Amino acid sequence: MRFDVAIVGAGVVGCAIARELTRYRLTVALCEREVEVGLGTSKANSGIIHGGHRAPHGTLKAATEWRGNQLWSDMARDLPFGFARIGDLTVAFDDDDVAYLQRLLEQGRRRGVTGLEMWDAERLRREEPNLSQDIVAALHAPSSGVVNPYEACFALAESAVRNGLELRTETTVTGIERGADGFAIATDRGTLHARFVVNAAGVFGDELARMVGAEEAGLRFRKGEEYLLDKRLVGFVTRVTFPCPSPTSKGILVTPTYDGTLMVGPTATWSEADDITTTAAGAEEVFDGARRLVPGISERDCIAEFAGVRAVAADEDFTIGHTSVPGFLNVIGIQSPGLTAAPAIALDVIDLLAEAGLALEVRDDFVPTIDAPLRFAELDPDEQARAVRGDPRFGRIACRCELVTEGEVLDAIARGARTMDGVKFRTRAGMGRCQGGFCAWRCLRLLANSQDVDVSAITKRGGRSWIALPRRDDHAATEVEHA
Ligand SMILES: Cc1cc2nc3c(=O)[nH]c(=O)nc-3n(C[C@H](O)[C@H](O)[C@H](O)COP(=O)(O)OP(=O)(O)OC[C@H]3O[C@@H](n4cnc5c(N)ncnc54)[C@H](O)[C@@H]3O)c2cc1C
Repeated sequence: MRFDVAIVGAGVVGCAIARELTRYRLTVALCEREVEVGLGTSKANSGIIHGGHRAPHGTLKAATEWRGNQLWSDMARDLPFGFARIGDLTVAFDDDDVAYLQRLLEQGRRRGVTGLEMWDAERLRREEPNLSQDIVAALHAPSSGVVNPYEACFALAESAVRNGLELRTETTVTGIERGADGFAIATDRGTLHARFVVNAAGVFGDELARMVGAEEAGLRFRKGEEYLLDKRLVGFVTRVTFPCPSPTSKGILVTPTYDGTLMVGPTATWSEADDITTTAAGAEEVFDGARRLVPGISERDCIAEFAGVRAVAADEDFTIGHTSVPGFLNVIGIQSPGLTAAPAIALDVIDLLAEAGLALEVRDDFVPTIDAPLRFAELDPDEQARAVRGDPRFGRIACRCELVTEGEVLDAIARGARTMDGVKFRTRAGMGRCQGGFCAWRCLRLLANSQDVDVSAITKRGGRSWIALPRRDDHAATEVEHA
């Protein structure tokens, strides 16, 4: 089949572009090498929808940050994912920092960011009593928010599929050739044809551009380590808290996630595209930085850690636009604030495609919403009882820490979860204090039953990330299958 547009990469950027395109009478394909969408950098970040005042002046980051920030409200109205505008604080420890905050305030106001306000130390102590007593002032941005980024990717993709997107996961693009009437896109699962190709391949963006002979962005990779803290600290800090930044990083932040638990990080160190390791040095830097803002934070509260990799273009800005290969667009180098900017980037890409000759005929049957999954833990006791009466699977607990039921795990599977991470990031099963000690086996079995395979065939996140060993008598057969 020949598509009007093929997008490579189902991170938040590719998913947002795909969903926008399905508003028009077009055939659209989205290729993703991973087993599910959103498992690249879009899963492994701080989950902040930045206030809109922060990106450097005159950059594409600045042009898309505030617009993106505003568009998240529209997306959250239509799609079920965790999103809350909890506000952020940038804090000052000395006069130089205060001068920086003043510049940030003016920059934000020039961009039309609403609600920005300087707080003195007294106001800050009242609002956030657990922040360091050494802080002398803060800039408050109520427009800032937090999101569960993986839920947003799942919801964007589900909505796009509902509106006709052809989503091809576990499909790695291996070569692209431009012909007389479009592109032949070779994948490890056959060849696709499309008139236009959008390169949203994240850290592999340059690799993809090279395949077709388009300009690269000179990508380098900057890893960020993040550390999640125990529920004991829920409410200890209620707004995202930033120090004043360094030239390469926003610094170590303290972020109350959408679910309330605190996250601290990220670091910013040059790395390889696929280096998602956490390190002792990273942990030390993160906890030292976090304690400078919030002295009551301790390493001993850490329950989980992860790292994500930023794709950093040579000019440190986003690379969004036409290339020397007509019909092939680069949307790469989307480092922070790429999550924030994604919905605005998607609209800009639609304009670029139109400029390149794609006819945009609006559909009148586009369905903007998808059904919200039931969240048992968020129901009151009467609602919980009703849910169990309606379907006894909501009466069987799969994850005790996060109170996730078997019914929710099965719903996640019906919506496309095929791995343990797919279930975890859709339902929160495995995200609590015991980190899967109780629920892993239950989720494994439900996944295996739904795919009619042995539990040893189920992976954490695709590839060779199996979790359970095959039963002894199945061992030989399964080894052959895995090979
Ligand atoms: C530690 C950290 C913290 C951050 N915090 C924030 C924040 O708080 N707020 C914010 O706004 N931004 C933040 N960011 C930035 C944000 O995460 C990124 O800008 C955003 O996720 C980039 O999305 P993407 O879709 O471009 O890339 P990705 O999510 O990486 O998606 C690219 C996809 O392309 C796929 N792919 C690659 N090559 C191929 C191929 N050949 N064939 C098929 N598929 C392919 C990959 O598998 C991947 O899924 C942070 C980043 C990091 C690392």
